[in-house]
Amino acid sequence: MNCPYCGYQDSRVIDSRDVNDGIRRRRQCLSCSARFTTYERLQPSSLFVIKKDERREEFSRDKLLTGIRKACEKRPLPTGAVDKLADDIEAELYRLGKAEIPSTIIGDMVMERLKSLDYIAYIRFASVYRAFTDITTLKQAVDTLVSSETEVSRPAGQLPLLPNEELERVAKRRSRK
Ligand SMILES: [Zn+2]
Repeated sequence: MNCPYCGYQDSRVIDSRDVNDGIRRRRQCLSCSARFTTYERLQPSSLFVIKKDERREEFSRDKLLTGIRKACEKRPLPTGAVDKLADDIEAELYRLGKAEIPSTIIGDMVMERLKSLDYIAYIRFASVYRAFTDITTLKQAVDTLVSSETEVSRPAGQLPLLPNEELERVAKRRSRK
C-alpha cells in the first residue's frame, strides 16, 4: 500500500487490531512519516451460481440483496434485517466450500429465512423466483397466510363471525387480564 500523501511504497505498522471480519492497521510512511490506516479482509475464493439454464454466473451479494430488498419493500422490518439476511446467506454459501452452487439452493435459503421473517415478503420472493412449481403450491402458501392472520385477529375460543363491537369488547377484556 503506497503512502496516500507522498506515494512512497513502504510503511511500518504502528498498531493493528481485529475489527469485525478483518484487521485494521495503523501505518506510518517510512519516507514522509505521515500516518494512515489500512484494512485487511479475507477475499473469499470466487463462487459461481449455476443458473436454471446451466449457465454459470459469479455469485453477487448485491444481486442477492436486490432480490431480497424487492421482496421486502414496504414491509415493517427492523433496519438492517435485510442486509443481515443477505450476509447470513453469503456466509453460509462460502461455508459450504463449494465452487458452484445451483441458484435454486440459494433461492431456497432465502425463502426459508423470509418465511420466518415476513410471510408476505416470502410469498413475493417465491413468486418472483418461480419457486412455486404449480398454482397449487402458491395457493397453499396464500391459504397458510390467510389462516395465520385470522388466528391473530380473532380471540381464541370465539366464533369467527361475531360483530365487531363484540370482538373489541372481548379483546379489551382479554388485555385487562
Ligand atoms: Zn509518505
